[in-house]
Amino acid sequence: TPLDIRGQIALVTGASSGFGEAIAWRLAEAGCKLIITARRLDRLQQLQQQLVEKYQVAVHVAQLDMRDLDAVAQLPASLPEEFQEVDILVNNAGLALSLSSVADHDIEDAKTMIETNFLSVVVLTREVVKGMMARNRGHIVNMSSIAGIEAYKGGGLYCGSKHALEAYTTATRHELVGTNIRVTSIQPGAAKTEFSIVRFKGDVTRADSVYEGLDPLTAPDIADNVMYALTRPVHVQIAEMLVFCSSQA
Ligand code: NDP
Repeated sequence: TPLDIRGQIALVTGASSGFGEAIAWRLAEAGCKLIITARRLDRLQQLQQQLVEKYQVAVHVAQLDMRDLDAVAQLPASLPEEFQEVDILVNNAGLALSLSSVADHDIEDAKTMIETNFLSVVVLTREVVKGMMARNRGHIVNMSSIAGIEAYKGGGLYCGSKHALEAYTTATRHELVGTNIRVTSIQPGAAKTEFSIVRFKGDVTRADSVYEGLDPLTAPDIADNVMYALTRPVHVQIAEMLVFCSSQA
């Protein structure tokens, strides 16, 4: 029987669109109390309103730029009392920028990816895992990618940031073996979200061209995978989930 996660406190980063938003919907449906973060406050507030209306769950909104590592470090302690004991941490916020030739790599873009996709996860997990360890319960879900396992032409920087996340996630899982804290890496292939629009800096035509000839994954597909991992019995640890759309090799 699936684990009942009703009443658990879940923190989802990057909940203003795509995977994070879909994951927030599924967690609310399952009866979790939610903390949702991103930079776009209006989107978060709209989501909060919809979730509260539909599922009558408590939702706390925190505007947070993952590049601001001090703000990330301070978030857990700054949460209202009733949200402090985080059971489920979904490190989802992330992006790809400048998939470019090695002769053109932009260091600002590189820093943005390393900070958002990797360092923010290190800092937020550091602050949240302390409470999980003290209570000996919790589940950390890191949104990696096929880019965390393979590197492709032009993807040196993005793949680098996700490879770093993969190594960190595996090391974290090893460290927590024997506790009731589980660690899961989700590794999606091509999925249609705002990811490509961000990647091509607002060029929707180029963004759409990525999905030509594919029937890409959707955000709800990935939320499904996350929910599967979260709702296994506590002795079952889904270490990794590599998920492609059927038209991707
Ligand atoms: P979206 O662009 O739809 O969502 C990305 C989310 O991350 C947004 O909520 C955005 O919020 C947030 N985010 C980005 N930068 C920051 C920042 N500096 N501070 C705070 N939040 C930030 O893309 P996806 O849903 O597709 O991406 C989610 C994760 O999935 C990412 O880690 C991505 O690398 C990964 N992934 C995506 C794949 C795909 O094909 N779509 C495939 C494999 C992995 P806001 O802009 O409001 O701050």
